[in-house]
This record gives sequence, C-alpha cells and structure tokens, in this order.
Amino acid sequence: MSHQIDAIRDAILADAPGEELAALPLPEQVRGALVRQEDQEMFAGLRSEEKDMRKSIRVEEFPFPEPAPDEAVVAVMASAVNFNTVWTSIFEPLPTFGFLKRLGRESVWGARHDRPYHVMGSDAAGVILRVGSAVRNWRPGDRVTIHCNYVDDQDPSAHDDSMLADNQRIWGFETNFGGLADLTLVKANQLMPKPAHLSWEEAAVNALCNSTSYRMIVSPNGAHMTQGQVVLIWGATGGIGAYAVQYVLNGGGTPVGVVSSPERAELLREMGCEHVIDRRAEGYRFWTDEGTQDPAEWRRFGKKIRELVGRDPDIVFEHPGRQTMGASVFVVRRGGLVITCAATSGYMIEYDNRYLWMNLKTIKGCHFANYREAWEANRAICEGQVYPTLSKVYPLAEAGEATWQVHRNLVEGKVGVLCLAPEEGLGISDPELRARTEDRITLFRRHAG
Ligand code: NAP
Repeated sequence: MSHQIDAIRDAILADAPGEELAALPLPEQVRGALVRQEDQEMFAGLRSEEKDMRKSIRVEEFPFPEPAPDEAVVAVMASAVNFNTVWTSIFEPLPTFGFLKRLGRESVWGARHDRPYHVMGSDAAGVILRVGSAVRNWRPGDRVTIHCNYVDDQDPSAHDDSMLADNQRIWGFETNFGGLADLTLVKANQLMPKPAHLSWEEAAVNALCNSTSYRMIVSPNGAHMTQGQVVLIWGATGGIGAYAVQYVLNGGGTPVGVVSSPERAELLREMGCEHVIDRRAEGYRFWTDEGTQDPAEWRRFGKKIRELVGRDPDIVFEHPGRQTMGASVFVVRRGGLVITCAATSGYMIEYDNRYLWMNLKTIKGCHFANYREAWEANRAICEGQVYPTLSKVYPLAEAGEATWQVHRNLVEGKVGVLCLAPEEGLGISDPELRARTEDRITLFRRHAG
C-alpha cells in the first residue's frame, strides 16, 4: 500500500478533522478488485456454476481518476459483495465493458470510465476525502454510505422517478471505480449518512439490498404492502430476502419465507418469521427432467402455504426467476402481485398465462431504488428499525473467494469486505443505540459461527 493511502487510513482511524483529510494528497494508483477485458472469454463454454471468479477477479492497482464537479472521492473503509459482482466477474449475461464504453461516449467525464479494466463493487461505507466544486451538502470528513443509483440529473427523464431515467446506471456495475477498492468515485447524490451505531463492515453491506427490498415491498413504486398482507419471500435469508422479511414484519404483514436448509429455517424463525418453508426438505420439482413444468408441484406448494397461513399470498417477492416464476404466478392470490427484480436461475421465464389473466394477477418489474427510497431505507437502518444481515467478512485481497461464496449460495445475508479498515468492529460512534440493538445486528454473524 502506498504512503498516501497509509496516511489516509491512519488519519481516519485517528478521527482527524475534515480539513486535515482534505489536505492529504491522494495517491495516483489505488488498489481495487477488478476484472480485465483481456479475460472476458476465459470461461467460454462453461456453465454458470462452473465459472470460478477466483480466477477472473484480480486485486491490483489502477490509476485513480480526477473527480468531476458533482462528485466525491470516498476512502472506502468497507464494501460488500453483491450478486452483480458475481455477474461482472463471470462475464454474464454480458461482459460489462460494453456498459463502460457506452458511458464513455456520453461526456468528457464519462470517458474516464471506459477502460480495459472494471473496478467492481456497488456498496461501500467510508469517509469523504474530496468534493467537487458543485457539491453542496457534503464535506471532507463526513462518514457516509453509498447507494448505487447513478443518474444524470441534467436528463429530464430522471426527474419523476430517477429509476425511470433513460440513462440510469448502477455504480460499480455499469460504471467503473466501484466500492471494492481503497478509494471510490461517486456522484454526490449517491451519498447517505453512515449509521452511527454500526461498524464499517456492518454499515457497508446494506445500501444495495436494503434499498431494493424497500422499493419492492414498501414503496408505492413497488408492492406498497399494507398491514395484514401475506408476502411469500423466496430466498428469505439471502441478500435481498432478509431485508424483505424485516420490511414485511415492520409493516404489519405476514411473511412466508422460503429457504433451503434447516439452519436457514432456524435463522428465519429467529428473525421473527413464523411461517417457513424448507424447499429442499419439501423436495419441490417445479420443472421435470423433460424441461416442462409440473402444475401438480405448483399445487403442492400452494397447499403448503395455505396450511401455514390459511390463504394465498397477496404478494410474491420473486427473484430466482426461471426455476420459480411458474410457481409464483400460480400461488399468488386472485388479484395479487408478483414483484420481481431478478432471475438468478435463468431469465427466459415460463408461466401459465391462464392463471395470470383469469385471476387478474399482475407481474411487476422492479429495479434498485431512487435516491429518496434509498434514503428512507438508510434511515430505517440509522434508527435501528432495520438491521444489517452481515454474516461473513473477507479482506479485499480475498474478494474472489468472497464472491465465490455468494455465487455458490454458501452464505446467508450479506458478505462484507474490509478495504481500508484494518479489522472488524471499528467506526461505531453511537454505542447507546448499538447496545439496544446489538442482538439483532449480530444475528447473522452469530449464525455463521
Ligand atoms: P443471494 O444473497 O445469493 O440470495 C439469493 C437467495 O435466493 C439464496 O439465499 C437462495 O436461498 C435463493 N435461491 C437461489 N437459487 C434459487 C432457486 N433456484 N430457487 C429458489 N430459491 C433460490 O442473492 P441476493 O443478493 O439476494 O440477490 C438475488 C437476486 O436478485 C440476484 O440475481 C441479484 O442479481 C438480484 N438483485 C437485483 C437487484 C435489482 O435492483 N434489480 C438488487 C439486488 C439483487 P435458499 O437456497 O435458502 O432458498
């Protein structure tokens, strides 16, 4: 690590004031977890699950760009792995270099992103070191978390719901210089206050998944769940699922959580989710070997949900995609909503449309969150109403292994990555709120052992 980075880290650990941080020189080269364009064919011919990103993710130095007037440079104390890190590192469904090229054509500042390497990462917690001349609300020294909605505020289409902007992007996935690095470059309108009762790594893992689940469950742009509704949640101890469970419980709904092991079932019950389905123990086979779906299995699944809660779900929180969408459309109640943000098991979806139209059901697409939604979701974390689901932590040097764990469905909740933070447990500045909420904050970590 360079002297400059050492000096930055030491100053942050010593709680140096903003002016001191702003005066420290920035290094020209910065360490980050990246993939290289020259490797983008390395997994050709392999199935997704055979692609091992421990070979494609490199932790290397890259030249750090100059910030634009509306941007901030943030020293990253900790970051997180998201599923988009998985997609980037196995070059699926497309290598991300095309995204960077397109951004590069948009403006002089956009051109900085078009590089033959892609620094990944769509979550971070850290400290602001520099702000551009157009940044009003943030200063060097501010402790922040970062959400990943990257929008051009000069684009008229960004001014209703910014997720509907024509050129909306996800930072660290469709832009370069993401959070899995010692320094990151973000737009000022991605910044949010760091929850004071959390350590750096606990604060770093929330923004992407927590905001996504907030929009899907709570926001009028998503399912807008009301109290008393039953919500079926796939992957209920996973990255987005575990925040969805919290929002359903907080909002007076009844979650029915689906998981794939007795350990995950137990964790879900500890979260307060009473109705649990272990999909592996039940042995559902929605698809037969011949590649067609089996409605008898959908019915068996629907019957199980009725046994648990006495009725069909009002909302299905859907993201596994191809493996589950047929069942999701079938089991949601007449007039109910399947809200989907992903297709982990395959995006060419098949369902029986008769159940959709005859029963007036809706399938609604949903993607990340606008700034307001991300801010509200972050506030819920800051106030201790929603807790982080951090279960494992890796150093940045092991970003490949951390991503592999997520790819192979080996971890619950979120995986944190230490960047400049030398160890876990640092950065807590509200010990009272922490003491009141510690049990919940550490629930996933304790479970992981
Ligand atoms: P994750 O942490 O790996 O959790 C996914 C969960 O889904 C797993 O815990 C697993 O739970 C369950 N699952 C996996 N394969 C399944 C299958 N074939 N059938 C049923 N359940 C299955 O991932 P995540 O962070 O929650 O992300 C999930 C998906 O959402 C990813 O594709 C990601 O790219 C996407 N995503 C989209 C957005 C957006 O803004 N559009 C935001 C965040 C995430 P069990 O094995 O215990 O059942």
